[in-house]
Amino acid sequence: MSVLLTTARRGLISQAAELGSVFATRADQYDREASFPYENFHDLQEAGFLALCIPKSYGGIGADFVDYALVSEELARYCGSTALTFNMHTATMLLTGQIADDLDMSDSQRVDHEQRRASLYKGVIEKGHIHAQPFSEGHQAGATAGVTTQAVAVDGGWRVRGRKIFASLSESAHRHNVTCKVDGEEAIRFLGIPADSIGITIEGEWDPLGMRGTISKNLVFDDVFVPAENEYLPPGCFDQAAKRWPYFFMTLCFTYLGIQRAVLDFTSEYLRGGNTAEERREHPQKQHGWAEMRIAHEQSQALVYRVLSEVGVDPAPAQIHRAWAAVVSAMETAPNLASTAVRVCGGRSLLRPLVLERLYRDARCGATMLPWSVEVCFDRLGRADLFDDSEAPV
Ligand SMILES: Cc1cc2nc3c(=O)[nH]c(=O)nc-3n(C[C@H](O)[C@H](O)[C@H](O)COP(=O)(O)OP(=O)(O)OC[C@H]3O[C@@H](n4cnc5c(N)ncnc54)[C@H](O)[C@@H]3O)c2cc1C
Repeated sequence: MSVLLTTARRGLISQAAELGSVFATRADQYDREASFPYENFHDLQEAGFLALCIPKSYGGIGADFVDYALVSEELARYCGSTALTFNMHTATMLLTGQIADDLDMSDSQRVDHEQRRASLYKGVIEKGHIHAQPFSEGHQAGATAGVTTQAVAVDGGWRVRGRKIFASLSESAHRHNVTCKVDGEEAIRFLGIPADSIGITIEGEWDPLGMRGTISKNLVFDDVFVPAENEYLPPGCFDQAAKRWPYFFMTLCFTYLGIQRAVLDFTSEYLRGGNTAEERREHPQKQHGWAEMRIAHEQSQALVYRVLSEVGVDPAPAQIHRAWAAVVSAMETAPNLASTAVRVCGGRSLLRPLVLERLYRDARCGATMLPWSVEVCFDRLGRADLFDDSEAPV
């Protein structure tokens, strides 16, 4: 048994599995309609999971990064869109919680941060607030580069102007937590924009290949007022987190590890004769195909879990490089497994309402997720290892 799987973690995973078995019954509808999984978020809230990574001292479950990774993996076995959007929400809780606790702040910054996150967490726990993280602008891949969204200081807060692309939960989040810049400053600011603010437009169509329930439309902010207390990290701390807690950028890959599991779950059931009249497991080719898939998944999961065993503040360069490798493995193994499953199971496995074709489409989206997209990770890993570049960008 993996040392990661403590009794407490097993408990969280089985809670996620219980929720997930219901999510599985709704996943096809969200996918067909490209509609947001509101019912699933309601269930997540009822189970207390919106507060999964809110520290216990603020009334949350107090789950840490590793707990979250395992829960995310489990949820994704049942509905990829729910797991991916739950990631956007929970990433803010981790950033302002466990990660912020590891960052350097002045005493007054720490006091402000405690007050602000108390209010953020209260909104989640008492009002069911859902948080999103629209960072992408389509300019540059780096987490701390290519940010053109501007914040201008005004009485009581900020005026924000800019445009974010692929904003998951664009129509459903209560807070859009954006990265933005103030003229003359180098550092990124991290501001929580209330979704009902005047000046926000949701633009574009949403009819993508996969992850259709995420509703990741574009958001335009036209001089939107953001109260000062919605600055969810002290100035400079987002950049500090990007440098000192870069594991933050790998949270998306746990969803795709879970999709790998979903592909295996489907294939096993299909070959055993579930879902269809015929059993196919007697064929040696099917046994071989299954074994091939199982090994690929075990390798990918083992690498991700190794990284999880190292997660923390101030990783060594080699550990960051391993995290990039783990992300590539999770993001690429998922579509590869789905592709092999089609070959092994055959044409009828592609027919709806069987889930394989949705898994195939959802799995393909992972490689594109910035700032640690597969292309970016390849680029950085190659450069960092071959040039001893310990200062590689995040
Ligand atoms: C379902 C879904 C949900 C999403 N949700 C969110 C969200 O909630 N929040 C959010 O911030 N973003 C989100 N994204 C956006 C995602 O993180 C990327 O920003 C987006 O996919 C980039 O698309 P693009 O066409 O602009 O790619 P481009 O930036 O044009 O990149 C094109 C290709 O080049 C690669 N590339 C880009 N820069 C580099 C580089 N410097 N070095 C090497 N390769 C590079 C990319 O990986 C990609 O393969 C989501 C995306 C999807 C598909």
